[in-house]
Amino acid sequence: MFKYKAVLVTGGAGFIGSHFVKYLLKKYKGIKVVNVDVLSYCANPENLREVVKDRRYKFYKADIADQWRMSQIMKKHRIGCVVNFAAESNNNKALISPIDFAKTNALGTAVLLEAARKNNVKRFHHISTCEVYGQLPLKSKAKFREDSPLLPRTPYNASKAAAEHIVRSYYHTFGLPITISNCGNNYGPNQFPENIIPVFAIKALLDQHLPMFASKHNKREWIYVTDHCRAIDLILQKGKAGETYNVGTGLEKSIIEIADEILKILKKPKSLKKVVPDRAGHDTRYLLDSTKIKRELGWKPKMAWQKGIRKTIEWYHDNPKWWKPLLKKSYAWK
Ligand code: NAD
Repeated sequence: MFKYKAVLVTGGAGFIGSHFVKYLLKKYKGIKVVNVDVLSYCANPENLREVVKDRRYKFYKADIADQWRMSQIMKKHRIGCVVNFAAESNNNKALISPIDFAKTNALGTAVLLEAARKNNVKRFHHISTCEVYGQLPLKSKAKFREDSPLLPRTPYNASKAAAEHIVRSYYHTFGLPITISNCGNNYGPNQFPENIIPVFAIKALLDQHLPMFASKHNKREWIYVTDHCRAIDLILQKGKAGETYNVGTGLEKSIIEIADEILKILKKPKSLKKVVPDRAGHDTRYLLDSTKIKRELGWKPKMAWQKGIRKTIEWYHDNPKWWKPLLKKSYAWK
């Protein structure tokens, strides 16, 4: 049984949020899931097709920065728990319109917190990122811990770090029971074609060049999206208010390794790889120390990389109807 009868998921029409909405409805019978999403360019209601007729599911097209609506929705559905995924999440877009990031990620989170406080929400869980901690040297064994300083370097990372500070302030100042999770790069089906795995998969399928940054040995830590959903579920049920949990697998892959792996799965030539200039502020490496969530809450990732990446690439191969209409909206095709 889920601890809270009614959950408000923000950003539930996006990649991770939509997986989380489906995860909750599949796992818990007596639950009500309210999804608030402004339906920005990267949202996709198609991701939720299998749940739209479910009577336990309710959708609102709304902005988390609209305090009156957030409060009204929380009150109407007697929301016990908020999970805040809603965000401007793309570092490429952050180069073009950085202010949007401060508005949604920092101010929007502040507004949502205030609505949660006024409606006596029992748990406010904020989805953050490893990117708030800054970058690690490429050749080192260092990892980010929950008590590592926040040293963001891009408008996206900085707005997420700002949000974390505001979330924690609501715990210390108002006693709002908050939790925060920081995870690495998610992958899986339904990811908008702006992140590296869907971009490389789709470009390879279309026989287009795979644009690898000049710093192609820069590394990220990868987590399959449903492993992330299980971690959030555990934090909501067993995590301690006021705490932060890193959610990482320890699995690091560089840009060039991802490109090679995708080309191999799709049986495409290595000549499709093309080096392009680095994005400004492109971080070298992130790796999380996730001992705390493993030891205290018993979480561990289930999906093996080889299985997860194959499943993901096959999904993009089999679902061109899902991704073709999105390419014109993607910053990776502009
Ligand atoms: P996404 O871009 O696919 O989804 C974000 C969703 O938020 C979209 O549906 C969008 O319409 C919605 N949204 C944007 N602004 C909004 C607003 N003002 N009000 C209401 N809804 C709004 O992103 P994602 O990859 O699913 O990421 C979800 C969360 O996880 C984000 O907070 C992101 O920072 C965090 N995160 C993502 C990753 C990753 O690898 N994708 C890694 C670490 C953390």
